[in-house]
Amino acid sequence: PPGAGLFISVNAGGSMGQTVFEPWNDPDEKPLIQFKNVTKRFGDFTAIDNQTFDIYEKEFFALLGPSGCGKTTMMRMLAGFETPNAGEIFLDGQNLAGVPPHRRPVNMMFQSYALFPHMSVEANVAFGLRQEGMPRTDIALRVSEMLKLVRLEHFAKRKPHQLSGGQRQRVALARSLAKKPKVLLLDEPLGALDRKLREDTQFELMDLQYELGMTFLIVTHDQEEAMTVADRIAVMDKGRIIQIATPAEIYEVPNSRFVADFIGDINMMECKVVAHAEDGMRLHCPLFSCDIDVAQKVEAGIGETVWFAIRPEKVRISFDEPDSKVNAVHGEVWDIAYLGDVSIYHTHIADEETVRATVANRSRTVEKPVGWDDKVWLSWDRDAGLILTR
Ligand code: ATP
Repeated sequence: PPGAGLFISVNAGGSMGQTVFEPWNDPDEKPLIQFKNVTKRFGDFTAIDNQTFDIYEKEFFALLGPSGCGKTTMMRMLAGFETPNAGEIFLDGQNLAGVPPHRRPVNMMFQSYALFPHMSVEANVAFGLRQEGMPRTDIALRVSEMLKLVRLEHFAKRKPHQLSGGQRQRVALARSLAKKPKVLLLDEPLGALDRKLREDTQFELMDLQYELGMTFLIVTHDQEEAMTVADRIAVMDKGRIIQIATPAEIYEVPNSRFVADFIGDINMMECKVVAHAEDGMRLHCPLFSCDIDVAQKVEAGIGETVWFAIRPEKVRISFDEPDSKVNAVHGEVWDIAYLGDVSIYHTHIADEETVRATVANRSRTVEKPVGWDDKVWLSWDRDAGLILTR
């Protein structure tokens, strides 16, 4: 498990304040979607490299990673638009090999929404149902149900060009939900929306997913979006999933430097193991005047190289020298970024080496604020940082 050996607890991820939803921790739960040793090559380029993972019913699952890491390819294989070169994909126990896209209980909402410009909102939503041959009265019912769901009942007769970006996005969503697929695939669904609308829509998506009890798979390169909506996140790099965990685990207990660095801001230093203790380890970082105590044990012998990682908000900054001689370094403030809610202090601890500390701006006035060029102490608790071995 991702948190093994680290003596911290993290909040359960997920949304809506529902009671604990962790089917992935229940050995009796059967996954809805299974990727088994799936490989996808384009020519001699390997886009997906022998990947195995599960997604559970009613899960909001996010694929997150830098551009080109293979997120969309993964999703397109599930939808049936790409065929794996090796491995298998199962849905509800059925091997999807050879099943054409329109026969899969999966619907994909595309980045561009792809609405028909000449059709009204209701005709757009009805399109797939008509093609399926659903009776007219059922179509009318379903369409009005869907438009109500996305709060567009009053826009049924409009054409896409008479709608805002956010409204168009909701039409596309209604259209992809209309057939009531088991799984909805969302490829950067909110990419075209501005920040505020995007945030609102993320919450709408979560509500909708919860209400419908459907399984959502979202592709995004926006870490905040993935953290907001997803029950679990798969962080990908170069065709491989590096870690799958809840947003809180991904943030608090990343399993590698790649994940730690990709999600949020983090200070990372190369260190050597100097001692093992019963409930943790002692490290030495050549850049630090102090040793580092960490309440975590990893598989690394004395003298081995590991990385110490700590989030800026877990580093204290003060004028007073702490009592402890470990987990405290002296430095000089070199840069301050005032962001309103927080300030980020860049502090030089060695020639060019900086440690970042974030301080919440709790009151509007501070008696003696830390300023540029001030000599300060940076310190942290032994359970605030973590040790990474890769
Ligand atoms: P983005 O966030 O930029 O959309 P992504 O993680 O979704 O990226 P994919 O679209 O899955 O990435 O592409 C993964 C890799 O496979 C990329 O390097 C891409 O160039 C390559 N690739 C994707 N489709 C094809 C194709 N049809 N032919 C050749 N190479 C492809």
